Amino acid sequence: MSLNLADVLAESAQRFPDRTAVIGGAVRLTYRQLWDDARRWAGLLRGLGVRPGDRVGVLLPNVPDFPRAYYAVAAAGAVVVPLHALATPEETAYVLSHSRASHLVSGGVLWQNAVTAAHLAGVPLVDIETQLSAEGQAVGCLAAAAVGDSLDWPVPREPDDLAAVLYTSGTTGRPKGAMLTHLNLLLNTSVSRDLFGLRSDDVVLGCLPLFHTFGQTCAMNAAFRAGATLALMARFSGQAALDLLISEEVTVFMGVPTMYVTLLETARNDERRPGHLRLAVSGGASLPVAVLERFEEAFATKIYEGYGLTETSPVAAFNQPDFGCRPGTVGHPVWGVRVAVAAPESDQIELLPDGTAGEIVIRGHNVFAGYLDDPDATAVTVVDGWLRTGDIGVRDADGFISIVDRKKDLVIRGGFNVYPREVEEVLSRHPAVVQVAVIGLPDPTYGEEVCAVIVADQQAGVVQPEEIVTWAKERLGRHKYPRLVEFVEQMPIGPSGKVLKRELRDRYADAPG
Ligand code: ATP
Repeated sequence: MSLNLADVLAESAQRFPDRTAVIGGAVRLTYRQLWDDARRWAGLLRGLGVRPGDRVGVLLPNVPDFPRAYYAVAAAGAVVVPLHALATPEETAYVLSHSRASHLVSGGVLWQNAVTAAHLAGVPLVDIETQLSAEGQAVGCLAAAAVGDSLDWPVPREPDDLAAVLYTSGTTGRPKGAMLTHLNLLLNTSVSRDLFGLRSDDVVLGCLPLFHTFGQTCAMNAAFRAGATLALMARFSGQAALDLLISEEVTVFMGVPTMYVTLLETARNDERRPGHLRLAVSGGASLPVAVLERFEEAFATKIYEGYGLTETSPVAAFNQPDFGCRPGTVGHPVWGVRVAVAAPESDQIELLPDGTAGEIVIRGHNVFAGYLDDPDATAVTVVDGWLRTGDIGVRDADGFISIVDRKKDLVIRGGFNVYPREVEEVLSRHPAVVQVAVIGLPDPTYGEEVCAVIVADQQAGVVQPEEIVTWAKERLGRHKYPRLVEFVEQMPIGPSGKVLKRELRDRYADAPG
C-alpha cells in the first residue's frame, strides 16, 4: 500500500478545485491554487536535492505559506519538521541539528530568526520570497519555482514511513522529537473530520498554531480532508477572533481553554455574535465546566471537549454525539483507539477497573513511532504497545473518560494528594474569577502548599484573597483549599496557547507566603 499525507490536499484539489481552501489576511487560495503551489514547491525542493525520507524544517507563522510548504515537503516524500514560531534561533538550531534537517524553509516575519538558526545549525535555507533570496542567504526560492518542476502527485510512501517529526515544547528538559507516520496522521485526520462532521461548506477558524499537533491535524489537515475553508489567524486575540468568526462566517471554532476565556472576555464588551457557528471544539488542557457553560450561553454553541497528545497524532478521546456529550469529561476513545487506565507506579501495564484513578494509557493507529534518536525515552513511554501519557484519569461505568490532572502537576500537601484541576473547577465558579491556575509551592511544614493564581474580573471590583480562600474552603476538603492566592493580569502562555504552570511555580516559589 502506498500513500502520502499530502494526498489530503491533492485529493481535495480534484474534488473541490474551486472551493476556497485557505484564507490569510488578503490572501485567498482555492484548492486548485494551493495544490498547484505545493506541487510546484515540491518539485523545486526535489531540484534542490531533497530526497524521500529527508527531514525538512518549516519555520512559518499561521499564513497560507505554512500549508504550501507543509504539503510541498510531504508531497516530495520528505519528513516535515514544523518549528515553533516563537522559539529563539538557538532553540530552532537545536531542533534542526537534532533532526539532521537537510533544509530549512522559511520567510516573512520569521526570516531573520531562520537565517540565524540555519547558520548556527549549518543547514541550507530555502526562502519563500524572491526578494529575500536576492540577499544571497538562501540556496533557493520557492516563489520562483517553475511550473515545469511540478509533481503530478505526491511521492508514494509506505504507511509506516515518517511524515512528520513534531518537537515537544521542552518544558521539561530538551525538546523531544515525536515521530509520526503517514498512517498515524492520515487516520487521525480522517477521524477528526468525522468527529467534527466537517464538510466542504464548513469554514474552520485556524487560530491554533499550525506547528502544534492540535492545529495541524484537527484544524488544518481535517479541514483540507473535508474540502472546507481554513481561515487563518496569524496571531490570536479575542477581538481579531470575534471579527473573523463574523466576517468569514466561520462554522467551526477549535481552541485551547485559554482561547475560550479570552473570547468570553471580548464578548463582554462586544455584543456582536457569530451567526454561523455550529460547533466548538476544546482540547489541549482541561476546560473548566464554568467556562464551558458561560461560552455555550454567550455564543449559543455547544463545546465538545477532546483529549490527546502530540504522541497520539493527537486525538485519542472525544465527546462524540453517538454517546452523548458529558461536560467535564473528554468523552470516549475515538474509532480504532483504546484508552484505558493503568496502575501509575508499575513498570508493566496493569489495567485498573472502571472508577479507579490511574495513569491514562493509549494504544491504536494514532500512537507514534517513538522519539527520534531517543530509545530510552521511547522505552519508558511505550510499554507493551501502550503509550503512557503521564496523565491521571478515570473511566466511569458508562465509559466516559475524565482527565484528573497531569502527574507532574499533582500537589502533595501534608501527605494528601490535591489535584489542581478539582480546585480550579471550584474557583472557576467564583463570579470574579476569569481564569485560574492552581499550583503547589514548597512549604516547610506541609511539603507543598496549594496556591491559586487568578486573573480577576476587572469589572467586578476589587477581590480580596480572603474572599477566594473562603469560597474554596466552603466547597473543598481541608487539605485541598488554597491558602495562598496570587492575582495576575494574564497567565504565562506557552507556544501552543496553554498556561505554563512551571513558569508560575518558578515565579512564586520564593515569594513570601
Ligand atoms: P510539551 O510540548 O512541553 O510536552 P505538552 O505536555 O502540553 O507540552 P502536548 O502534546 O501539547 O504536550 O499536550 C498533551 C497533554 O495535554 C496531555 O498529556 C494532557 O496533559 C493535556 N491535555 C490535552 N487535552 C486535555 C484535556 N481535554 N484535558 C486535560 N488535559 C489535556
